[in-house]
Amino acid sequence: MHLHPAVTALARSAADLALGSTCAGCGEHPGLLCSPCRDMLAGPARVISTVPEAPELALAAAADYRDVGAVVIGHKDHGRLPLAVPLGDALAVAVTALIAEAGGCTHGLGRELALVTVPSARAAVRRRGQDATARTARRAARTLRKSGQDAHLVRGLRHVRRVGDQGGLGRAAREQNLVDAMAVRRPALRLLQDRCVVVVDDVVTTGASVREAARALRAAGTVPCGVAAIAMAK
Ligand SMILES: [Zn+2]
Repeated sequence: MHLHPAVTALARSAADLALGSTCAGCGEHPGLLCSPCRDMLAGPARVISTVPEAPELALAAAADYRDVGAVVIGHKDHGRLPLAVPLGDALAVAVTALIAEAGGCTHGLGRELALVTVPSARAAVRRRGQDATARTARRAARTLRKSGQDAHLVRGLRHVRRVGDQGGLGRAAREQNLVDAMAVRRPALRLLQDRCVVVVDDVVTTGASVREAARALRAAGTVPCGVAAIAMAK
C-alpha cells in the first residue's frame, strides 16, 4: 500500500509516542531525543559569523551540523514531527544570539521580530508531507514570545519560478538553482515594516538560499537584520 507522505509522517509521530523508538540524534538512547543530544541543541549559539560570501549579512547558528544533522534529518525527512519543538527552541537561541551578539541588527532586543522563512521547494514539501522549516520557525516564534520577545513568523517569500530541492545539488548548481528565484509576497510587506527582519532556515551550507532570500527582501525595500539557523554546515 502506498501511503501519502503526510500520513506516513503522522504514523511516525505516533510511533514516537510508543515505546521502541530511539533518539533522533545518536540512535542509541530510547525516546525522541536524549538529554545529551538535546543539550547539543539548546546550549549557547555555536556560530556567530557572517553568511558565506555575504559579509554584510550577520549569521547565528545554534549548533554545528556535524553534531545535530541527524536530528534535522529526522524531523525533515523521517517525519518525526515532535522534533520541531527542540529544533524550534534551538532556532530561538540562534535568533536571540543574532540580535544580541552578532552585531547585524542595530535595533537591539525589544523591537518586534519578523522571522521570514526561506521558502521550501514545493516538490520537496509534497514529498515530505510537511514544511519542516515553517514548523520549526513557528515554534521558534512562540518560544521567543514566551520569553517576552515579540516575534512572529512571516511567510513573506515565495519562489517566482520552479526550483529544485537544494539538498541534492552541488555548490555551483545550488547557486544556479536560486538566481533571482524568490520574491516578497505583496501582502507580507506590511508585516515587515518597522520590524527587525530575520531570515531563518534550518541549515546554512553554502549560504545560497539565505543570500537569495536577503536579495529578494532588499529588492522589496526591506533590509534584513541577519540570518538565524539551527545549524551551520561547513
Ligand atoms: Zn541522543
